[in-house]
Order: sequence, then C-alpha cells, then structure tokens
Amino acid sequence: MFNTEYKFTCKRCGRIWYASSKEIREQKRLKREINLMNTTANVTKLSRLGIPTKKVQRQNAILSTMKLAYSDPKRCPDCRSRKVIKSKA
Ligand SMILES: [Zn+2]
Repeated sequence: MFNTEYKFTCKRCGRIWYASSKEIREQKRLKREINLMNTTANVTKLSRLGIPTKKVQRQNAILSTMKLAYSDPKRCPDCRSRKVIKSKA
C-alpha cells in the first residue's frame, strides 16, 4: 500500500517528528471510533439515569485504552502546539 512519510516541524519549540500517512490514517480512524464511543456512552448514561451498567463499564475500559493509544500526529508531542509545518520527508 502507498505509504508516504511526513516530516512535522513545530513552529513554537522547533521539535521535529515524523509520521507516515499510514499512521496518520490509523490515528484518524482511532479518533473517529473514540468520538463514536463517547456519543454512545453518553446516550447510554442518559437512558440509565447515570447508573453505569456492565456494558458501559466495559465500554469505558475500551475507551480509555483507545484514548491512551491515540496521539494526534499533527500536534507537537512536546509543547502540544498545533502550529506545525507538515512537509514530505
Ligand atoms: Zn512544540
């Protein structure tokens, strides 16, 4: 599969890091799933009057694992700035 590597340069602190297009795609997919799960979790919470069911507890566990695995490739890992320059590596 076509896989390009990108170079990211932070405008704020000058940190340089790399991410491949495959990684960026993966992170995007993960973020979508997290958002989706957040929405479902909220709906379940509302209908259950805030009492977490076994299903919600399990969902929350998966959700926190996914949140740990997620890191925005377009955000500086050092200063968390979004002011980054993306270029082909
Ligand atoms: Zn930075």
